Amino acid sequence: MTANILTAKQIAEGIRNSLKNKRGNFPKITLASCVMGDNEAVRSYCASQKKWADTLSVEYREIVMDSNTSEKEAIGIIEDLNNDASVNGIVLHKPFLEGWNEHLLFESVKREKDIEGLNPYNLGELFFGNPLFIPPTVLSVLELLKSISIDLYGKNVVIVGFSNILGKPLSIILADKFATVSITHIGTFEASKLPFYLRNADIIITAVGKPHLIKGQWIKDGAVVIDVGIAKLNNKITGDVEFKEALKHVSCITPVPGGVGALTVAFLFSNLFKAAGMQKR
Ligand code: NAP
Repeated sequence: MTANILTAKQIAEGIRNSLKNKRGNFPKITLASCVMGDNEAVRSYCASQKKWADTLSVEYREIVMDSNTSEKEAIGIIEDLNNDASVNGIVLHKPFLEGWNEHLLFESVKREKDIEGLNPYNLGELFFGNPLFIPPTVLSVLELLKSISIDLYGKNVVIVGFSNILGKPLSIILADKFATVSITHIGTFEASKLPFYLRNADIIITAVGKPHLIKGQWIKDGAVVIDVGIAKLNNKITGDVEFKEALKHVSCITPVPGGVGALTVAFLFSNLFKAAGMQKR
């Protein structure tokens, strides 16, 4: 079977061009990006946001909080950004500093500026099929599935990883589209049941961050695999799936890098422009 490797660069460029066309509708657009604790993945995501901001003439404001900042001060900074009419969208980068309450921090982002879709209000509205914003990583996975025109009705979808940014919201959206969704996580892995679920999957979506967690031989022939995971193995960026082995079985697969990651920043900016549009009205 020849596998189709689903790269995202072309889709991302399409989104960038459509945003460029809308840019003239706004005198100014500003993204506030809050870094709360440093790591390589955050630095790389910020660099790519900065690049997108430059090409779209968006003001990029990076706010760095470190161990000298208390959680209370962080919430104060977010409230200032909420009240600053020149700021259209706010991003809070994880991991947060030790002991900080994720729920409290995301809750403090004003709904209309919550371009990551992680405020509990937005996540709650997702249950009703009516979120103001859908998390960019979720939008990226949905767009990749759309790009191969796959009919989700009745398909067995297995999601590996149960995080707020991906597994939880995506499972609701896919079940709303009448896919049969299984959510697997560390409990499934530790019960040695991951291969069982994956063998029955028409579509696998994984976001764990453990290189080669998913063995090629566990994948059903003809399955579609979307790999969101990013981690380093032998100094190389690698996904959750044993890519070379998987190629022998899948009909479509996203590479890492060059797959989902290339789209996430595009959808973050798409949400930013949506926020700017709502605020203008
Ligand atoms: P997270 O919040 O740590 O979630 C990871 C999930 O994986 C958790 O549900 C965890 O279960 C589960 N898990 C851990 N070990 C497992 C195992 N051995 N088998 C099955 N499930 C396991 O992480 P995240 O923020 O969702 O990020 C996950 C990965 O996606 C990371 O590599 C991150 O860099 C990447 N990512 C990529 C993009 C992109 O644009 N491509 C965007 C966001 C994130 P428990 O909670 O039970 O431990």
